[in-house]
Amino acid sequence: MPNRRRFRRIKMPPAMEGFKPFGIPMRELESVNLLFEEYEALRLADYENLTQEEAAAKMNISRPTFTRLYDKARKSIAKAFVEGKAIIIQGGTYITDDYWYRCEDCHETMITVKPTKNCRKCDSDNIVQLNEKPVKGKKN
Ligand SMILES: [Zn+2]
Repeated sequence: MPNRRRFRRIKMPPAMEGFKPFGIPMRELESVNLLFEEYEALRLADYENLTQEEAAAKMNISRPTFTRLYDKARKSIAKAFVEGKAIIIQGGTYITDDYWYRCEDCHETMITVKPTKNCRKCDSDNIVQLNEKPVKGKKN
């Protein structure tokens, strides 16, 4: 059977780009990568306290796939925690219902139904889109 990669649904972007540990000189700082869907798996299970079945349904993926993402997220965070590495949240295979942006000037995170060019907080046009295009079948 071909390994068809399903897109994982994510509700909201993380509020930050990652984490940095205290007490490690910047030049020695290494990082681990956390995919957006791994972040979402951890958020649903450990923050929203959903069961793995419920969380998998929310992300539109199978329970085994969810468990894999969740385990990976916990291992990456444990590694960063124990080894004093930074955590960078980026990348992945996922879909969203909205557009996500982050302002490079004031670091505001925006979730919008329609594409936008300016920060809603400081009106800067120095914004970056965080996600791919929203899922088909929705307006705009
Ligand atoms: Zn701004």
